[in-house]
Amino acid sequence: MQHARTILRAVVLGSLWCAAAAVLAAGTLDKIKESGKLTIGYATDVRPFSYNDATGKPAGYAIDLCGKVADALKGELKLSSLAVSFVAVERAFGRPEPVELRIGGRSLYVRGQIDRIDVDGTRTLVRDLKTGRAHPRGGKEALPDPVLDLQLAVYALATRHLAAAWQVPARIGAAYAFVNRGAEEREWRRDFKQTLRPAAEQWLGLAADLLAARMFPRTPNPDDCTFCRFTPVCGDAYARARDLLAKGDGVLARFAALKKVERA
Ligand code: SF4
Repeated sequence: MQHARTILRAVVLGSLWCAAAAVLAAGTLDKIKESGKLTIGYATDVRPFSYNDATGKPAGYAIDLCGKVADALKGELKLSSLAVSFVAVERAFGRPEPVELRIGGRSLYVRGQIDRIDVDGTRTLVRDLKTGRAHPRGGKEALPDPVLDLQLAVYALATRHLAAAWQVPARIGAAYAFVNRGAEEREWRRDFKQTLRPAAEQWLGLAADLLAARMFPRTPNPDDCTFCRFTPVCGDAYARARDLLAKGDGVLARFAALKKVERA
């Protein structure tokens, strides 16, 4: 079944590539000709089609095929040179061994799959693709939000941790990309270090402290549970959760502050 899924994904990727080629013909060829550069996205975990070899370099049938396409493009565009670079999309991390993030003197172990990583000059841009409507965030909404932004922040922290191994700059930016709408909402391209990173370290530090104290308080906010698969198990004791957080101290009081619960 896993093998069938891998082949299906490779076929889908191939179809996407063909769709991309059609778009390429519409105007991108001019850009390639002007810049003398071609950037190709590839998946890192669909052996034998496309993967990273033992040295972290892209390898596989699809990579070889892309090399031949690049050669053909160079001839077609009558270029004396064409700089080809491969950019990993859907980069998995923490498999088989989870990535250890050191936060506030504790270790958190994470694994996941990042939608897209681009190297933009001296910065690595970590992106999370979204299919819904973009929601531009201004004013107070521009601040990092643990419910909205934790996943992107973990991807960015994991990328920073693995930058040397992945041979990408350790200077990190993070952003959302909306596939169908073409618009982006809040992004941390230039201020990740000053804004999203310290906020994420605070959220994750709190999570690590809760785990260390063997405390697993539930959220008092129904909206947090909208897309969670554990709702049948957790039930709807939001009022009781709010009450407990209002009276709790220590690490519970910090969690209450994060969830904006008024203290009793
Ligand atoms: S359903 Fe439970 S686990 Fe999921 S977000 Fe709500 S409280 Fe947390």
